[in-house]
Amino acid sequence: MKAKIIYREDLTDSLSIFRFNVDVPDFKPGQFSTIGLPHPEKEGKILWRPYSISSNPEQKDYLELYIRWAKWPVLGKFTTMLWPLGVGDEVEYKDPKGAFSIAHEFPDGTPDKRRIILIGGGTGVAPFMSAAASMFEHKTDRQIILCHGVSYINELGYRDELLALEKEEGYDFKYLASVSRPDEEANADWDGLTGRVESIIQPGEDGWSAAERAAGEKFTPDNTCFYICGFGGTVDSVKEAVQADGFVTKKEAREDGSFDIRFESYG
Ligand SMILES: Cc1cc2nc3c(=O)[nH]c(=O)nc-3n(C[C@H](O)[C@H](O)[C@H](O)COP(=O)(O)OP(=O)(O)OC[C@H]3O[C@@H](n4cnc5c(N)ncnc54)[C@H](O)[C@@H]3O)c2cc1C
Repeated sequence: MKAKIIYREDLTDSLSIFRFNVDVPDFKPGQFSTIGLPHPEKEGKILWRPYSISSNPEQKDYLELYIRWAKWPVLGKFTTMLWPLGVGDEVEYKDPKGAFSIAHEFPDGTPDKRRIILIGGGTGVAPFMSAAASMFEHKTDRQIILCHGVSYINELGYRDELLALEKEEGYDFKYLASVSRPDEEANADWDGLTGRVESIIQPGEDGWSAAERAAGEKFTPDNTCFYICGFGGTVDSVKEAVQADGFVTKKEAREDGSFDIRFESYG
């Protein structure tokens, strides 16, 4: 299938939002689409890459992806071909798939009403933008806290949308952003949280994390579950921080099958 780019917004020279005009199928927030371009080395082949969908499934006008141009330590194969493309250009496209999504039931079928902490590093915010917008549409009564960590303030993609969701009546949604290089000139205007994304959920000197302060309650496996997304190192650091507090992944599920941490690693 082909998908045409109908909108592109550049947040920086290497971070962009792309919208594609596809027949948006039913999908779950957290799933990814796969897009492709002619393989640069293999004649007649397509080079495919998965990208988390940042638009929500209730929105049927387009499918949106949030993509970083991989430049370091070498130029990424796919994103370097994608970067010059703009409105009107086409890519190959495969429908959404993937098992990473928000669970509203425990494995035994009982409702999971716990607070949801969504933790995204960089472009790892994409599936959580989708989830936050979708849960608003579905009027969830669960508390949602979305934590986004970036190096520079201009990388805080979806900030306006997330701040707007925070103001919605009847939606218990909180947005916490952290910038990891506060001393750099480009971040001079930042007066919010600082540190890598895991610092938002790590206790400070008073024993409370910024996320717990926002919630007004200490997190335990009885009242909170975690979703983590981003590149490998970030996912591992966040996972370790949460595991240290007694939360478990599916691998360490309890006897009743319940667990508290779900994650998607970009590589
Ligand atoms: C489920 C899933 C969802 C994803 N969602 C997103 C998303 O929403 N947004 C997003 O931006 N990305 C996402 N990704 C990552 C994306 O699929 C690509 O991996 C990414 O865009 C890089 O692709 P590329 O072909 O440009 O880079 P590649 O050519 O595949 O290179 C990948 C990285 O490895 C480095 N590298 C390559 N060759 C070498 C080498 N010889 N030595 C050392 N380093 C090397 C490159 O510099 C680059 O940083 C997701 C990945 C997965 C698995």
